[in-house]
Amino acid sequence: MTDGNMAPVTEIINLMKAPSEKDKECVTLAYNFGKEAHKDHLRKSGEPYFIHPIEVAKTLAEIGMDRHVIIAGLLHDAIEDAKATEEEVGKEFGEDVLFLVNGVTKLGTVKYRGMDRHIESLRKLLVATSQDVRVLIIKFADRLHNMKTLEHVSKEKQKRIAAETLQVYAPIAERLGIGALRKELEDLAFPYVHPRKYKEVLELRKKKRKETEKHLDKALKSIKKELARVGITKFRTEIRIKGLYSLFKKLERKGNDIDRVYDISAIRVIVASVDDCYKVLGAIHNLWRPLPGRIKDYIALEKPNGYQSLHTTVIIGDGTIIEIQIRTEKMHMAAEYGIASHMLYKDGIVPKRGELAWFKQFLPNKEQDYIAETTKAPEWIHDIAAMDEVETSEFFKNLKSDFFNFRIFVFTPAGDVIDLPADSTPIDFAYAVHSDIGDHVCGAKIDSKLVSLNTKLKNGDIIEIITKNSSHPTTKWLEFAKTSVAQRKIQSYLNKTR
Ligand code: MN
Repeated sequence: MTDGNMAPVTEIINLMKAPSEKDKECVTLAYNFGKEAHKDHLRKSGEPYFIHPIEVAKTLAEIGMDRHVIIAGLLHDAIEDAKATEEEVGKEFGEDVLFLVNGVTKLGTVKYRGMDRHIESLRKLLVATSQDVRVLIIKFADRLHNMKTLEHVSKEKQKRIAAETLQVYAPIAERLGIGALRKELEDLAFPYVHPRKYKEVLELRKKKRKETEKHLDKALKSIKKELARVGITKFRTEIRIKGLYSLFKKLERKGNDIDRVYDISAIRVIVASVDDCYKVLGAIHNLWRPLPGRIKDYIALEKPNGYQSLHTTVIIGDGTIIEIQIRTEKMHMAAEYGIASHMLYKDGIVPKRGELAWFKQFLPNKEQDYIAETTKAPEWIHDIAAMDEVETSEFFKNLKSDFFNFRIFVFTPAGDVIDLPADSTPIDFAYAVHSDIGDHVCGAKIDSKLVSLNTKLKNGDIIEIITKNSSHPTTKWLEFAKTSVAQRKIQSYLNKTR
């Protein structure tokens, strides 16, 4: 893979997808610029500081980001921590790169004394992300390397950064559907936040894996044989092991009973087409009996973060229970890289991670679908950015309760998915659909039955809002509304009419 003597800039370029001469030239320029700016600058570990931006750039190259993002990765700390100025970066590398670098730059200590600088920096990051989601992807790469090198900072800082990773960054990755990143961030942070629990879960997973290993191997063989028999030849399989932190959370929900967790190891079958997904599901159910209630069709009914796959849990010969996930290569990329995967498909070039060579033939001829709107942030990030006049402490409270808490997924009568925090009511739903609908609610139906406006919505509810022009928000509604979005809109209506 990597040659130990290779210059770091060559390593970065080698990780890029088919870089042009211009790409190579610009990345090299940025490399030299960053190296100069960080000269004499050391990390807490005593190593040259520039090692860090190099690692960030490598991650970005590896996941398939373009030149501008990689350059911004190389320079992401150059203005904040080193000697470079905004003018220089803008002049040398363009406004696009400068915007990205400024987006990930934290707020200075002086200006924000008194407020919680970390929360305000986070707010600034999310506002920049609402304009260009690539800002967040650079921040993720930055956080990933900082988490990997966390042993060098003070105990206190370790706890703070790890807790913030679990509370903020991992849930954002989850909501953006970047499963691979969420898992990595969580498992890096877990030991710093809950050291004892981490050791326990690690041991437990090890023990459980040993028990199931040979069953999984046997099951894999049976699957391959059955698929060959029914004529499916283009597929690959892998064993996915549940992340430690995710296992820890699941154990908490299952009363710490490991025997009730069926997906510590799961088998993944990755195929070429949606048709093949259903064929594989049929073949597997032909082999083994599925557990009732655990067959999930997230292809026909995708999760709100875009996740698609078929899941089933089967009982194999000797009574062992295993989960099987079936998906296309495209769904797999989307599940691992989420919003970033749209950028990865650009120009039809497949990332270097994984053995995806044969997959190229299944890419659409024109990749316009993927190129369009790749840098657009999802609606909920715009909602966060809209909280611009909210105070720091309030902002963080809203962020946690509206965006990172347990969410429910409900439907409009037309079948559109709306995701809301748990305990949301029809008022929250109405405002989530449109503020005009919110401002004129006069009643609500759940699954065609009239309900009161303070009814707590449940996962899967189909909600119909009845509006009347003469109906308007009342102070009572403030008690009904769970989301700060709805509360803010009700309050602003009340202020206007007072
Ligand atoms: Mn950094």
